[in-house]
Amino acid sequence: TLLKQCIAAPGSVSALRFYASGSVPTTKLFINGQFVESKTSDWIDLHNPATNEVITRVPKATHDEMEAAVAGCKEAFKTWSETTILTRQQLMFKFQQLIKDNLKQIAALITKEQGKTLADAEGDVMRGLQVIEHCCSITSLQLGETLSGVAKDMDIFTYRVPLGVCAGITPFNFPAMIPLWMFPVALVCGNTSLIKPSERDPGATMMMMELVKEAGFPDGTVNVIHGAHEAVNFICDHPDIKAISFVGSDQAGQYIYERGSKNGKRVQSNMGAKNHGVIMPDANKEMALNQLCGAGFGAAGQRCMALSTAVFVGEAKTWLPELVERAQKLKVHAGSEPGADLGPLISPEAKKRVCDLIQSGVDEGAEMLLDGRNVVVPGYEKGNFVGPTILNHVQPKMKCYKEEIFGPVLLCMEADTLDEAIQVINDNAYGNGTAIFTNNGATARKFISKIDVGQVGVNVPIPVPLPMFSFTGSRGSFRGDSHFYGKQGIHFYTQTKTITQMWREDDATDTQAATAMPV
Ligand code: NAD
Repeated sequence: TLLKQCIAAPGSVSALRFYASGSVPTTKLFINGQFVESKTSDWIDLHNPATNEVITRVPKATHDEMEAAVAGCKEAFKTWSETTILTRQQLMFKFQQLIKDNLKQIAALITKEQGKTLADAEGDVMRGLQVIEHCCSITSLQLGETLSGVAKDMDIFTYRVPLGVCAGITPFNFPAMIPLWMFPVALVCGNTSLIKPSERDPGATMMMMELVKEAGFPDGTVNVIHGAHEAVNFICDHPDIKAISFVGSDQAGQYIYERGSKNGKRVQSNMGAKNHGVIMPDANKEMALNQLCGAGFGAAGQRCMALSTAVFVGEAKTWLPELVERAQKLKVHAGSEPGADLGPLISPEAKKRVCDLIQSGVDEGAEMLLDGRNVVVPGYEKGNFVGPTILNHVQPKMKCYKEEIFGPVLLCMEADTLDEAIQVINDNAYGNGTAIFTNNGATARKFISKIDVGQVGVNVPIPVPLPMFSFTGSRGSFRGDSHFYGKQGIHFYTQTKTITQMWREDDATDTQAATAMPV
């Protein structure tokens, strides 16, 4: 109720328990069930990307605060890991309902801090909610294995037991979904969780902590610290943290994977992407073009599964003018405005980077079909907006192709055959997602079998798997063994304990010690 009141009333956000009062409200830490004001002197200003007004200041937590957060998680683990699985399941049911009840409020805060449209922000929360819903079936997911009678009077069985304190480090682009890939799965398996949300939009995580508390999760089962590199190093090095889940850029992901692994931790690291859509001439044209626009420009291209490169095979290239027409119709506006199709980029720096990459494409010989760099949004002139941009005749050697752009930019390439298109994609370093648009089953089947990418869509532009499966990006887009959520998520957050037991009534023949290896 408090959340609803605070968010419903414009300007009253400072009344939220995780914002302290002051001219610019500060975001609090969440330690052992309390929203705590940081004692740091080092703060990060968080701007609304549509206006560039400062809306909160995010602390870089002090060393003592981070230590207190880990100690709290470690202490909570002692009792939490011994709660019954049915208790954990019931708490997940409650949490699931609370997220549903507060979905619009969380989405509104995401739009304010991150910039995406309200409808898209609701999708962000929904996709995370589905992970919680899957966690509710933990009574099946955490089952071990058994084999009775492996020797006389002897059985072997396994348990999947929790690891301890597990940390999560999240990116700015899905402020609800990605933390929800992490802490609910960790908790439901019996771990405790330390989250360091993106310093650029931690509000959704903090709001969810209100709901964690309301659901009745014991204090310390989830703690939240804020910060940037120092907080990340702290997590990588702390001996009481057993596992790290990371989602974000390549640079940070590789670094965290190496530093965490070197310290003996389990690490799963989801990183950047360059996702290609292949458009066959036999595809349903209307559907393919609409899906390219939605997946290329939605969320202003700030999705790791955005389709950022379109490969037109054969005659499909003649559809380009119609693609441009559709992209021009998309409405660039503040995410909170009705009818907005894409909102601003996260920061002025991100906008500059995207514009520079567009220019590099032009300088290297790509053809500009649609230029969104000079878009002006009335009423939001200071926002970080870039409109849909389409570059044609892009070559693999170009900088704009080699780097992840993470903006509303669709690169277009041509191929004479499906084999040629597959080769281009397999030569790219990333393996997060790809899609083919075709009406031919044999073509689709060939694509599925030859493509070296972890998540494949057939007439589905953003093939993010539902949580009964796992998020299986591959090659340059992932480091680690077990992926996020689904069965692999449960594996990541548990270790196997294998028990070999013998129960035998008094045996008169068992009179002598045997020293040979038992078989
Ligand atoms: P980012 O790497 O800048 O930040 C992610 C987290 O890492 C943040 O919490 C940040 O504080 C920390 N961090 C940033 N730089 C660091 C450094 N040098 N050393 C240590 N820690 C650092 O990522 P972002 O800009 O917030 O997110 C966008 C990126 O995330 C894109 O590359 C996108 O493709 C990727 N992403 C990948 C997936 C996926 O599942 N593969 C999903 C979403 C986003």
